[in-house]
Amino acid sequence: MNEGSYRRVDRALLLTFDDRHVREWAAVAPLFARYGARVTFFVCEPDRLDGDEARMLRRLADDGHTIGCHGMRHERATDFVAAHGAGAYLDREVVPALESLRRLGFPARGFAYPCSARDESTDRLLLTLFERLRGGVPAERRADPSLADELRVPAAELPSRRVLPGCSVDSGRGAVVFDDDLTGVEAALRRTSDEGGVTTLYAHGVADAQETNHITPARLEKLLALADDLSLPCVGFDELP
Ligand SMILES: [Zn+2]
Repeated sequence: MNEGSYRRVDRALLLTFDDRHVREWAAVAPLFARYGARVTFFVCEPDRLDGDEARMLRRLADDGHTIGCHGMRHERATDFVAAHGAGAYLDREVVPALESLRRLGFPARGFAYPCSARDESTDRLLLTLFERLRGGVPAERRADPSLADELRVPAAELPSRRVLPGCSVDSGRGAVVFDDDLTGVEAALRRTSDEGGVTTLYAHGVADAQETNHITPARLEKLLALADDLSLPCVGFDELP
């Protein structure tokens, strides 16, 4: 992966997409290319990718995007460990997902927690297998300007910060339309542009409407345009130092 591009900058937007919406992600690859944006796709149920989806994911990786792991069956880490133990969590939920991605040719060095459900013990466990993890802040905080402090990780802390907080930028789910106010997210991007470091955001599918969590193409483009206006590069997890 292109590590040099990150070293030239000390600030970035980490835009990430979760679950298994490979066809939708591939469809917006030209949008990413137009903004010179590289993003991260955290894939769950990798064993259920069909041949076309595996090829699309390969193409996205070849374009410079990062492919990460999001679990085998999208289990909440903390609940699964509480119910079955840490060993079973790794054996049933994490290692098979990692092996499945690696069989497809993706090293998957990062992991995003399903539903952002994590604690320090699951962090310790997963950091034996992954270089970086993505957690989350409550989605309702995205309108709060003070979110910038929590979401932005300063550049000096990046080498030691192995768990990055992310904030949802999804537009809705089914008939539910999420709060349109992204004041906190925009504040974090401005702050990252001004002071350096990284801000991590996450979405799922990319569609104008759909049953599962999704961001509209219009909102996605608005975020990419804002980062571009702020001269904030959009890079994948694998490009972090
Ligand atoms: Zn998910």
